[in-house]
Amino acid sequence: MSTMAGLMSLVIGALLLGLPGRYAARIPGLRAWGCALLMYALGTASYLLNHVLPTGLATMPGNALVMFGFALLMAGSRRFLGCPKAPGPMLWLCCISLGVIAFFQFVVPDYRVRISVFTGTLAFIALAHLRLLLRHGQGWASRFMAGVLGCLSLVMGVRGVLTWWVDRPDMHIYMPSSVQGAYVASYAFAVLLLGVGVLFMATERVRVEFEHMATHDGLTHALTRRSWMSRAEAALADPGRPLVAVLMLDLDHFKRINDAQGHQAGDRVLATLARVMADALPPGAALGRYGGEEFVILLEGHAAAQALEVAERLRQAVQARALGCTVSIGLALAGPTQSPQTPLDALIQRADRALYRAKGQGRNQVQQAGPAERDAAPSPLQAAPQSRP
Ligand code: GH3
Ligand code: MG
Ligand code: MG
Repeated sequence: MSTMAGLMSLVIGALLLGLPGRYAARIPGLRAWGCALLMYALGTASYLLNHVLPTGLATMPGNALVMFGFALLMAGSRRFLGCPKAPGPMLWLCCISLGVIAFFQFVVPDYRVRISVFTGTLAFIALAHLRLLLRHGQGWASRFMAGVLGCLSLVMGVRGVLTWWVDRPDMHIYMPSSVQGAYVASYAFAVLLLGVGVLFMATERVRVEFEHMATHDGLTHALTRRSWMSRAEAALADPGRPLVAVLMLDLDHFKRINDAQGHQAGDRVLATLARVMADALPPGAALGRYGGEEFVILLEGHAAAQALEVAERLRQAVQARALGCTVSIGLALAGPTQSPQTPLDALIQRADRALYRAKGQGRNQVQQAGPAERDAAPSPLQAAPQSRP
């Protein structure tokens, strides 16, 4: 079983290390995970030499490779989760444990101390790894890994305690024993699942990134128009929905920034202002890029006065950033409509008309759609979409 687990670790480790550079660059920690699994595979191979080498000469390097492999696996998760911290304490723990194991291998041979120290060290690293994943991990792959590490530390802990009842000081790891057999089997299985776990974590990261790329605008990181629309449609279609409000925003005289400083500077201003707006929004609000330098915001559960407050806060946040442009905002609240358009189209149209009232009245202000905008004819811009940037 341990040979099979070693071979599987070899395959998964090689797979992780062999992934094309463009994937590896997107998944921090991937190389550390790959090396950790290879170290485990080498450690297993080293244990097998126990049959040909004098006692201890094969198990010591095997223990070292497995222990450092476990510490490296955790270092990989640290990098993956963006919590870089020097792996020093874990390395010191491994060195001290190996020193103790060597003492009880060559000076005062005692199998039970060796087993306790080895399993205790691995259980400690596995628990620290588990804590890291529970604190910083996201998604089911992290929870899967945490579950495997929990089981592994339990197996290690039980083995380290049981040795004092079931083993003798002169035994070694390949002596037939049902306790040792069950331990090796569950340990090998857990290591195999750890290899699968890191693969899950890596692929889930890639999936989340692709999903983000498909639903978010590359420059401003706001939702794309399509994903914002489908979210807004779902909010409006919900029969038990709270109040829904739509804010339509257009940056004032943005063209001047492009003309004066160039389009790249314009891009930077656009990205910064999108971040400023996102930061000023209440939790749950959805910011989308409608097109060019126009944004839409979906607010749920906000009455008119609260929605106006949010809009005013956004306007002030953009102005306070002093990047050479302000924002005009049109606000519309969902309500009964006689318009032949879909509820969302009708809502956007009313917010749009309120926005152009804000533009017409001097810009850098918030206007709420009133009776004048209710089910009005399409705004000049909606009637002629080619006039949008
Ligand atoms: P106002 O809305 O106040 O009437 O004036 P404006 O200058 O902002 O006019 P308008 O909304 O018609 O023009 C928007 C400009 O935004 C035109 C276009 O060059 C620029 N723009 C649109 N998208 C981008 C972009 O992704 N990057 C940059 N740099 N500029 C963009
Ligand atoms: Mg515009
Ligand atoms: Mg504009």
